[in-house]
Amino acid sequence: MKVNIIVPCYNEEAVLTMFYEETAKVINSVQGYDFEFMFVNDGSKDRTLDIMKELAEKDERVKYISFSRNFGKESAMYAGLKNSKGDYVLIMDADLQHPPALIPQMISVMEEGYDCCATNRATRDNDSKLRQFFTNKFYGFVNKISDVDMPNGAGDFRMMSQKMVRAVVALSEVQRFSKGIFSWVGFDTKWISFEDVERAAGETKWSFWSLFKYAVQGITAFSTAPLKIATFIGSLISGVSFMYLLGIIIHTLAFGKDAPGYASLMAVMLFMGGMILLSIGIVGEYIAKMYIEVKRRPIYIIGKTNIEDPEDDYGDNK
Ligand code: UDP
Ligand code: MG
Repeated sequence: MKVNIIVPCYNEEAVLTMFYEETAKVINSVQGYDFEFMFVNDGSKDRTLDIMKELAEKDERVKYISFSRNFGKESAMYAGLKNSKGDYVLIMDADLQHPPALIPQMISVMEEGYDCCATNRATRDNDSKLRQFFTNKFYGFVNKISDVDMPNGAGDFRMMSQKMVRAVVALSEVQRFSKGIFSWVGFDTKWISFEDVERAAGETKWSFWSLFKYAVQGITAFSTAPLKIATFIGSLISGVSFMYLLGIIIHTLAFGKDAPGYASLMAVMLFMGGMILLSIGIVGEYIAKMYIEVKRRPIYIIGKTNIEDPEDDYGDNK
Protein backbone atom coordinates (compact mmCIF):
# COMPACT_ATOMS: atom_id res chain seq x y z
CA MET A 1 0.00 0.00 0.00
CA LYS A 2 1.22 3.45 -0.89
CA VAL A 3 0.51 6.74 0.86
CA ASN A 4 1.20 10.15 -0.67
CA ILE A 5 1.70 13.10 1.65
CA ILE A 6 0.88 16.37 -0.12
CA VAL A 7 2.40 19.47 1.43
CA PRO A 8 1.58 22.87 -0.10
CA CYS A 9 4.41 25.26 0.69
CA TYR A 10 4.68 28.99 0.25
CA ASN A 11 7.74 30.65 1.76
CA GLU A 12 8.28 27.89 4.29
CA GLU A 13 12.09 27.84 4.46
CA ALA A 14 11.93 28.40 8.23
CA VAL A 15 10.00 25.23 8.94
CA LEU A 16 10.26 22.81 6.01
CA THR A 17 13.26 20.82 7.22
CA MET A 18 11.71 20.53 10.66
CA PHE A 19 8.46 19.38 9.07
CA TYR A 20 10.26 16.74 7.06
CA GLU A 21 12.17 15.42 10.07
CA GLU A 22 9.15 15.26 12.36
CA THR A 23 6.99 13.58 9.73
CA ALA A 24 9.73 11.16 8.66
CA LYS A 25 10.06 10.06 12.28
CA VAL A 26 6.39 9.13 12.37
CA ILE A 27 6.16 7.40 9.00
CA ASN A 28 9.34 5.41 9.58
CA SER A 29 7.59 3.77 12.47
CA VAL A 30 4.54 2.75 10.43
CA GLN A 31 4.86 -0.79 9.08
CA GLY A 32 3.45 -2.09 5.83
CA TYR A 33 3.11 1.19 3.93
CA ASP A 34 5.30 2.97 1.40
CA PHE A 35 5.17 6.71 1.93
CA GLU A 36 5.96 9.41 -0.56
CA PHE A 37 6.23 13.13 0.12
CA MET A 38 4.69 15.37 -2.50
CA PHE A 39 5.94 18.86 -1.73
CA VAL A 40 4.29 21.56 -3.81
CA ASN A 41 6.25 24.77 -3.96
CA ASP A 42 3.69 27.46 -4.62
CA GLY A 43 5.97 30.11 -6.11
CA SER A 44 7.94 30.76 -2.92
CA LYS A 45 10.31 33.71 -2.96
CA ASP A 46 12.68 32.18 -0.41
CA ARG A 47 14.80 29.01 -0.34
CA THR A 48 11.82 26.63 -0.11
CA LEU A 49 12.55 24.98 -3.48
CA ASP A 50 16.26 24.57 -2.66
CA ILE A 51 15.32 22.82 0.57
CA MET A 52 12.96 20.51 -1.35
CA LYS A 53 15.76 19.63 -3.76
CA GLU A 54 18.15 18.92 -0.89
CA LEU A 55 15.59 16.66 0.76
CA ALA A 56 14.95 14.87 -2.53
CA GLU A 57 18.66 14.15 -2.89
CA LYS A 58 18.85 12.63 0.59
CA ASP A 59 15.57 10.74 0.48
CA GLU A 60 14.16 9.17 -2.67
CA ARG A 61 10.66 9.23 -1.15
CA VAL A 62 10.67 13.01 -1.62
CA LYS A 63 8.94 14.29 -4.75
CA TYR A 64 8.34 17.93 -5.48
CA ILE A 65 6.38 20.07 -7.88
CA SER A 66 7.35 23.69 -8.19
CA PHE A 67 4.95 26.20 -9.73
CA SER A 68 5.97 28.91 -12.16
CA ARG A 69 4.49 31.50 -9.75
CA ASN A 70 2.27 31.69 -6.67
CA PHE A 71 -1.12 30.15 -7.52
CA GLY A 72 -2.51 29.82 -3.98
CA LYS A 73 -2.95 26.89 -1.61
CA GLU A 74 -6.03 25.58 -3.45
CA SER A 75 -4.05 25.20 -6.66
CA ALA A 76 -1.15 23.61 -4.78
CA MET A 77 -3.46 21.02 -3.25
CA TYR A 78 -5.03 20.32 -6.65
CA ALA A 79 -1.65 19.77 -8.28
CA GLY A 80 -0.66 17.45 -5.44
CA LEU A 81 -3.88 15.46 -5.68
CA LYS A 82 -3.71 15.18 -9.44
CA ASN A 83 -0.18 13.81 -9.25
CA SER A 84 -0.73 11.43 -6.33
CA LYS A 85 -1.29 7.84 -7.41
CA GLY A 86 -1.06 6.17 -3.99
CA ASP A 87 -3.82 4.14 -2.34
CA TYR A 88 -4.20 6.77 0.36
CA VAL A 89 -3.49 10.45 -0.05
CA LEU A 90 -2.87 12.81 2.86
CA ILE A 91 -2.84 16.62 2.76
CA MET A 92 -0.83 18.47 5.41
CA ASP A 93 0.34 22.02 6.07
CA ALA A 94 4.07 22.59 6.19
CA ASP A 95 4.04 24.50 9.48
CA LEU A 96 3.41 21.48 11.76
CA GLN A 97 -0.02 22.81 12.73
CA HIS A 98 -1.23 19.46 11.44
CA PRO A 99 0.41 17.00 13.83
CA PRO A 100 2.15 14.12 12.00
CA ALA A 101 1.53 12.01 15.12
CA LEU A 102 -2.05 11.54 13.86
CA ILE A 103 -0.94 9.68 10.72
CA PRO A 104 -1.06 6.14 12.21
CA GLN A 105 -4.55 6.81 13.57
CA MET A 106 -5.70 8.14 10.19
CA ILE A 107 -4.36 5.05 8.46
CA SER A 108 -6.24 2.76 10.82
CA VAL A 109 -9.45 4.72 10.11
CA MET A 110 -8.87 4.13 6.39
CA GLU A 111 -8.30 0.45 7.07
CA GLU A 112 -11.71 0.30 8.69
CA GLY A 113 -13.04 0.96 5.19
CA TYR A 114 -13.65 4.71 5.21
CA ASP A 115 -12.90 6.71 2.09
CA CYS A 116 -11.82 9.68 4.09
CA CYS A 117 -10.46 10.50 7.51
CA ALA A 118 -11.01 14.22 8.05
CA THR A 119 -9.93 16.33 11.00
CA ASN A 120 -11.21 19.36 12.76
CA ARG A 121 -9.50 21.57 15.25
CA ALA A 122 -11.09 21.26 18.66
CA THR A 123 -10.21 24.88 19.50
CA ARG A 124 -8.94 27.85 17.61
CA ASP A 125 -6.98 29.40 20.45
CA ASN A 126 -4.09 30.33 18.21
CA ASP A 127 -6.19 32.52 15.93
CA SER A 128 -6.93 36.10 16.89
CA LYS A 129 -10.27 36.82 18.63
CA LEU A 130 -11.44 38.83 15.62
CA ARG A 131 -10.58 36.01 13.23
CA GLN A 132 -12.40 33.50 15.44
CA PHE A 133 -15.49 35.72 15.51
CA PHE A 134 -15.68 36.09 11.74
CA THR A 135 -14.85 32.42 11.18
CA ASN A 136 -17.79 31.39 13.36
CA LYS A 137 -20.12 33.83 11.60
CA PHE A 138 -18.92 32.61 8.22
CA TYR A 139 -19.53 28.93 8.92
CA GLY A 140 -22.92 29.66 10.45
CA PHE A 141 -23.96 31.57 7.33
CA VAL A 142 -22.47 29.18 4.78
CA ASN A 143 -24.07 26.14 6.33
CA LYS A 144 -27.43 27.85 6.37
CA ILE A 145 -27.45 28.86 2.71
CA SER A 146 -25.45 26.23 0.85
CA ASP A 147 -26.19 22.70 -0.23
CA VAL A 148 -23.07 21.23 1.30
CA ASP A 149 -22.15 20.85 4.92
CA MET A 150 -18.93 22.51 6.03
CA PRO A 151 -18.15 21.85 9.69
CA ASN A 152 -16.52 24.71 11.56
CA GLY A 153 -12.89 23.99 12.34
CA ALA A 154 -12.59 21.63 9.42
CA GLY A 155 -9.23 22.10 7.78
CA ASP A 156 -7.61 20.60 4.74
CA PHE A 157 -5.76 18.07 6.93
CA ARG A 158 -7.30 14.81 5.77
CA MET A 159 -6.52 11.41 4.33
CA MET A 160 -8.49 10.17 1.34
CA SER A 161 -8.71 7.02 -0.72
CA GLN A 162 -7.51 7.17 -4.32
CA LYS A 163 -11.14 6.84 -5.40
CA MET A 164 -12.16 9.96 -3.51
CA VAL A 165 -9.09 11.81 -4.78
CA ARG A 166 -10.09 11.03 -8.39
CA ALA A 167 -13.55 12.40 -7.65
CA VAL A 168 -12.11 15.59 -6.14
CA VAL A 169 -9.81 16.02 -9.14
CA ALA A 170 -12.79 15.56 -11.47
CA LEU A 171 -14.21 18.79 -10.06
CA SER A 172 -11.90 20.87 -12.16
CA GLU A 173 -13.19 24.35 -11.44
CA VAL A 174 -10.51 27.01 -11.49
CA GLN A 175 -11.83 28.92 -8.48
CA ARG A 176 -11.58 26.16 -5.95
CA PHE A 177 -13.01 25.93 -2.46
CA SER A 178 -11.80 22.59 -1.21
CA LYS A 179 -13.75 22.48 2.04
CA GLY A 180 -16.93 22.53 -0.02
CA ILE A 181 -15.56 20.21 -2.69
CA PHE A 182 -14.59 17.51 -0.17
CA SER A 183 -18.05 17.61 1.26
CA TRP A 184 -19.77 17.80 -2.13
CA VAL A 185 -18.17 14.61 -3.49
CA GLY A 186 -19.58 12.66 -0.54
CA PHE A 187 -18.12 9.26 0.47
CA ASP A 188 -17.88 7.80 3.97
CA THR A 189 -15.94 10.22 6.11
CA LYS A 190 -14.83 9.76 9.68
CA TRP A 191 -14.05 12.91 11.67
CA ILE A 192 -11.37 13.01 14.30
CA SER A 193 -10.40 16.11 16.22
CA PHE A 194 -7.05 17.38 17.37
CA GLU A 195 -5.77 20.13 19.62
CA ASP A 196 -4.86 23.38 17.93
CA VAL A 197 -1.12 23.95 17.87
CA GLU A 198 0.86 27.03 17.04
CA ARG A 199 2.81 27.37 13.82
CA ALA A 200 6.28 25.90 14.46
CA ALA A 201 8.09 28.73 12.64
CA GLY A 202 7.50 31.33 9.93
CA GLU A 203 4.32 33.35 9.51
CA THR A 204 0.74 32.76 8.49
CA LYS A 205 0.04 33.65 4.85
CA TRP A 206 -3.49 34.86 5.57
CA SER A 207 -4.34 38.52 5.93
CA PHE A 208 -7.78 39.65 6.99
CA TRP A 209 -8.51 40.72 3.42
CA SER A 210 -7.48 37.38 1.93
CA LEU A 211 -9.71 35.58 4.46
CA PHE A 212 -12.59 37.85 3.47
CA LYS A 213 -12.09 37.05 -0.20
CA TYR A 214 -11.88 33.37 0.70
CA ALA A 215 -15.19 33.64 2.55
CA VAL A 216 -16.95 35.28 -0.44
CA GLN A 217 -15.45 32.54 -2.59
CA GLY A 218 -16.82 29.89 -0.23
CA ILE A 219 -20.30 31.35 -0.35
CA THR A 220 -20.52 31.90 -4.09
CA ALA A 221 -18.88 28.58 -5.00
CA PHE A 222 -21.50 26.42 -3.33
CA SER A 223 -24.64 28.48 -3.22
CA THR A 224 -26.75 30.73 -5.38
CA ALA A 225 -28.70 31.87 -2.32
CA PRO A 226 -27.44 35.50 -2.52
CA LEU A 227 -29.14 35.75 -5.93
CA LYS A 228 -32.35 34.42 -4.46
CA ILE A 229 -32.11 36.80 -1.50
CA ALA A 230 -31.75 39.70 -3.97
CA THR A 231 -34.80 38.50 -5.89
CA PHE A 232 -36.75 38.12 -2.65
CA ILE A 233 -35.92 41.59 -1.34
CA GLY A 234 -36.65 43.03 -4.78
CA SER A 235 -40.11 41.48 -4.92
CA LEU A 236 -40.85 42.50 -1.34
CA ILE A 237 -39.99 46.14 -2.06
CA SER A 238 -41.96 46.06 -5.34
CA GLY A 239 -45.00 44.71 -3.50
CA VAL A 240 -44.87 47.36 -0.79
CA SER A 241 -44.25 50.09 -3.39
CA PHE A 242 -47.26 49.00 -5.40
CA MET A 243 -49.54 49.24 -2.36
CA TYR A 244 -48.14 52.66 -1.59
CA LEU A 245 -48.74 53.72 -5.19
CA LEU A 246 -52.38 52.66 -4.98
CA GLY A 247 -52.66 54.64 -1.75
CA ILE A 248 -51.26 57.78 -3.39
CA ILE A 249 -53.59 57.49 -6.41
CA ILE A 250 -56.66 57.07 -4.23
CA HIS A 251 -55.53 59.88 -1.94
CA THR A 252 -54.96 62.22 -4.91
CA LEU A 253 -58.33 61.39 -6.48
CA ALA A 254 -60.13 61.95 -3.20
CA PHE A 255 -58.30 64.98 -1.80
CA GLY A 256 -56.60 66.56 -4.82
CA LYS A 257 -52.92 67.51 -5.30
CA ASP A 258 -50.51 67.46 -2.41
CA ALA A 259 -47.05 69.06 -2.94
CA PRO A 260 -44.87 68.15 0.11
CA GLY A 261 -43.01 64.88 0.23
CA TYR A 262 -39.42 65.78 -0.65
CA ALA A 263 -37.97 63.93 2.32
CA SER A 264 -39.91 60.72 1.76
CA LEU A 265 -39.18 60.87 -1.97
CA MET A 266 -35.45 61.21 -1.34
CA ALA A 267 -35.49 58.40 1.21
CA VAL A 268 -37.25 55.99 -1.13
CA MET A 269 -35.03 56.94 -4.07
CA LEU A 270 -31.80 56.50 -2.17
CA PHE A 271 -32.94 53.25 -0.62
CA MET A 272 -34.05 51.86 -3.96
CA GLY A 273 -30.84 53.00 -5.65
CA GLY A 274 -28.85 51.23 -2.97
CA MET A 275 -30.84 48.03 -3.31
CA ILE A 276 -30.48 48.06 -7.09
CA LEU A 277 -26.72 48.54 -6.92
CA LEU A 278 -26.39 45.82 -4.29
CA SER A 279 -28.35 43.38 -6.45
CA ILE A 280 -26.32 44.23 -9.53
CA GLY A 281 -23.21 43.70 -7.45
CA ILE A 282 -24.37 40.24 -6.39
CA VAL A 283 -25.25 39.30 -9.97
CA GLY A 284 -21.90 40.70 -11.06
CA GLU A 285 -20.12 38.50 -8.54
CA TYR A 286 -21.54 35.40 -10.23
CA ILE A 287 -20.94 36.70 -13.74
CA ALA A 288 -17.32 37.39 -12.80
CA LYS A 289 -17.01 33.80 -11.62
CA MET A 290 -18.47 32.55 -14.88
CA TYR A 291 -16.09 34.77 -16.82
CA ILE A 292 -13.08 33.24 -15.07
CA GLU A 293 -14.42 29.69 -15.38
CA VAL A 294 -15.29 29.82 -19.09
CA LYS A 295 -11.73 30.78 -19.94
CA ARG A 296 -10.76 27.26 -18.78
CA ARG A 297 -7.31 28.40 -17.75
CA PRO A 298 -5.04 25.81 -16.10
CA ILE A 299 -5.26 25.67 -12.30
CA TYR A 300 -1.49 25.52 -11.96
CA ILE A 301 1.61 25.65 -14.13
CA ILE A 302 4.60 23.47 -13.32
CA GLY A 303 7.99 25.11 -13.54
CA LYS A 304 10.12 22.33 -12.10
CA THR A 305 9.52 18.85 -10.72
CA ASN A 306 11.29 15.56 -10.05
CA ILE A 307 8.19 13.49 -10.84
CA GLU A 308 8.76 11.13 -13.76
CA ASP A 309 5.61 11.79 -15.72
CA PRO A 310 3.72 14.73 -14.22
CA GLU A 311 0.14 15.65 -15.11
CA ASP A 312 -0.36 18.87 -17.09
CA ASP A 313 3.27 19.83 -17.54
CA TYR A 314 4.93 21.63 -20.41
CA GLY A 315 8.13 19.60 -20.60
CA ASP A 316 11.73 20.31 -19.55
CA ASN A 317 11.11 20.26 -15.81
CA LYS A 318 14.55 19.62 -14.36
N1 UDP B 1 0.19 28.05 1.34
C1 UDP B 1 0.37 27.86 -0.03
N2 UDP B 1 0.12 28.91 -0.89
C2 UDP B 1 -0.30 30.14 -0.45
C3 UDP B 1 -0.50 30.30 0.95
C4 UDP B 1 -0.26 29.25 1.80
O1 UDP B 1 0.75 26.78 -0.47
O2 UDP B 1 -0.48 31.03 -1.27
C5 UDP B 1 0.47 26.94 2.27
C6 UDP B 1 1.42 27.27 3.40
O3 UDP B 1 2.76 27.12 3.00
C7 UDP B 1 1.03 26.26 4.47
C8 UDP B 1 -0.47 26.10 4.25
O4 UDP B 1 -0.73 26.58 2.93
O5 UDP B 1 1.67 25.01 4.31
C9 UDP B 1 -1.29 26.86 5.27
O6 UDP B 1 -0.89 28.21 5.32
P1 UDP B 1 -0.81 29.04 6.67
O7 UDP B 1 -0.13 28.24 7.74
O8 UDP B 1 -0.21 30.35 6.31
O9 UDP B 1 -2.35 29.22 7.01
P2 UDP B 1 -3.07 29.13 8.45
O10 UDP B 1 -2.53 27.90 9.14
O11 UDP B 1 -2.72 30.38 9.16
O12 UDP B 1 -4.53 29.00 8.11
MG1 MG C 1 -0.67 27.40 9.46
